[in-house]
Amino acid sequence: MPELPEVETVRGGIEKAALGKIIKEITVNRRDLRFPLSEEFEEALTGARFENFTRRGKYVIAHISGGHVMVLHLGMSGRVRIFAPDQEYTARKHDHVIFTLDDGARLVFEDPRRFGYILLRADEDWEALPPFDAMGPEPLGNEFNGDILRVKLKGRKTPIKTALLDQRIVAGLGNIYVCEALYRAGIHPARLSGKVKPAESEALTRHIRDVLKDAIKAGGSTLRDYQKTDGSLGYFQYSFGVYDREGQACPDCDCDVLKTGGVARMVQSGRSSYYCARRQK
Ligand SMILES: [Zn+2]
Repeated sequence: MPELPEVETVRGGIEKAALGKIIKEITVNRRDLRFPLSEEFEEALTGARFENFTRRGKYVIAHISGGHVMVLHLGMSGRVRIFAPDQEYTARKHDHVIFTLDDGARLVFEDPRRFGYILLRADEDWEALPPFDAMGPEPLGNEFNGDILRVKLKGRKTPIKTALLDQRIVAGLGNIYVCEALYRAGIHPARLSGKVKPAESEALTRHIRDVLKDAIKAGGSTLRDYQKTDGSLGYFQYSFGVYDREGQACPDCDCDVLKTGGVARMVQSGRSSYYCARRQK
């Protein structure tokens, strides 16, 4: 599932192709996405201009003239393919929504599993509605720091891994980047949130930011379905310290894998956590 770095990469790709452009035509092949596409969708947006593209958590927010925002969530397998003005559009089976812009470019939302969706919201209140009303701070923004995280974790009996996946505590993180940030911070994924010391929560916020920035630079991580808007792949998966590396040596240990077993895996809330038992306590 795309996390913050992948969504940010997609946002940047859309922005490059569509900023300032007018939506000339919208073709909807399927309305029954995870949430059905609004009946007003085509009418509200045709003829309007893409004025800005931002991101909140794992969502791309397209700000559109006429008082609307379009909220895009990629779900598990969602992709945005972009066709340049001089490029011929090649249809695929799961192309659900196609935007044709005034310069002839096309933005195509493709999603075989249909866990993704597009919401049409009013510009003035989208942040006050779910899921944004309860969403925690942006990890790359100024609001996120060691003190804020410490307050949010205080007294919690949930494992730190589970807490960091909770979008109300911090926005945009998923399984990959939580595992990687905890590894870099030397904190065991099963440690109770309330037992994370103030200095550790300070270091953890720094490592969360660093791993996200590194991943954005690499265009995200490509594991299964994710690819960039031009069809190319992110490559941060080659920089993983622990994620999906069970039994392998972790990059910062000189221990003998045959003796230690290398990177360990445990299941928490139904999802795999990867960690180094030697570095993470
Ligand atoms: Zn290690």
